[in-house]
Amino acid sequence: MNRMENYARLLVRVGINLQKSQTLVIASPIDCAEFARVAQAEAYRAGAREVVMRWIDEKSAKITYDMAPDAIFDEFPSWAKEFFNGYADSGAAFLTIHASDPELMKDVDPKRISRLSKARNIALERFRMLQMSNKSVWCVASVPTPAWATKVFPGVPAAQAVDALWDAIYKAVRVDRDDPVQAWRDHQAALDLRLAFLNGHAFSALRYKNGRGTDLTVALPKGHVWWGGGDRYEEGGYVFVPNMPTEEVFTMPRRDGANGRIVASMPLNHNGNLIEDFWFRLEDGLVVDFGAGKGADTLKELLDTDEGARRLGEVALVPFDSPISNLGILFYNTLFDENASCHFALGKAYPTCLSGGTDMDEKALLAAGVNDSLTHVDFMVGSADLEITGIGPDGAEVPVFRNGNFAF
Ligand code: ZN
Ligand code: ZN
Repeated sequence: MNRMENYARLLVRVGINLQKSQTLVIASPIDCAEFARVAQAEAYRAGAREVVMRWIDEKSAKITYDMAPDAIFDEFPSWAKEFFNGYADSGAAFLTIHASDPELMKDVDPKRISRLSKARNIALERFRMLQMSNKSVWCVASVPTPAWATKVFPGVPAAQAVDALWDAIYKAVRVDRDDPVQAWRDHQAALDLRLAFLNGHAFSALRYKNGRGTDLTVALPKGHVWWGGGDRYEEGGYVFVPNMPTEEVFTMPRRDGANGRIVASMPLNHNGNLIEDFWFRLEDGLVVDFGAGKGADTLKELLDTDEGARRLGEVALVPFDSPISNLGILFYNTLFDENASCHFALGKAYPTCLSGGTDMDEKALLAAGVNDSLTHVDFMVGSADLEITGIGPDGAEVPVFRNGNFAF
């Protein structure tokens, strides 16, 4: 079996954990068609009922952003709404190949992008709720494209850059190991030890500090749960891995409990636009001030999505000394960069991160301090000198991170 087949096998058998007679929806950029077809065949070998291919063409999306009349950017077609909500409701699994060109949308009006993304998120609220509550199985992974690879490896011929990016991805997802499936089991066992420590301590807050200027205390709600690696599908009771790779352990903050300053440690590629050298100041959970060296307009659009977009919805810990971080590559792709660094997300929190959260309605979640928003965007804060201290319910201080790595 070649490495591409091994990778497809890992995504279908471990990432999606495809069940016999299940339908799989594969969303793939047209540039990744070769790999998408390999994954399609692997899904049929694994017993798929039907593999539905959804092709994405971001260059054509750019033509729409540039040339279409303004009115269409607040619309999302009902057939597309039915496609996602319907397949999710009927128990289909979703494999998404994420491989955008980090700079393609840089000259597009960010308002058009955020309006369309808002219309989409409103139409697909049910779909997102199912996915964020482990009531629908999904996996996001990446495949190199020439545009993405040459951004990651500038000055290298496209074919060579694509090969180098394949190598980096295979390392990150452990397809370079003799037995990638066993390597994932070992990785999960290591994450489980971190989870046991964090869940055992049930910290009421975490305090962050580093030399870049991050100085923040973030409160965690009572009953918060740390997760990492696989999630358990509620209906089927089996484990799937929503992100490949994944190195993080994560939970939710209290929506009104973050105070201080966060300085991002990596650029953020948002909707095809790069935001660089940015920071936030938060009071009682709300972003009250912010700035960016580049992409400030895009950052403002993101924060203006709704009130929840100005609050934190995820707290994630990744050691500075970890496989993806050690590759020393800036991927310009959140799936990889978030797994190289401690991060937060602006926007919606995962209800699974609160004990009993998936059975609570919107009002109960809000009362428990769970943030809600149409958006969820990760941004990185990790650094070699990051210190994180856990504050126990009794006020006791416990080192969680020292010098950028787990202190336990
Ligand atoms: Zn995360
Ligand atoms: Zn996230």
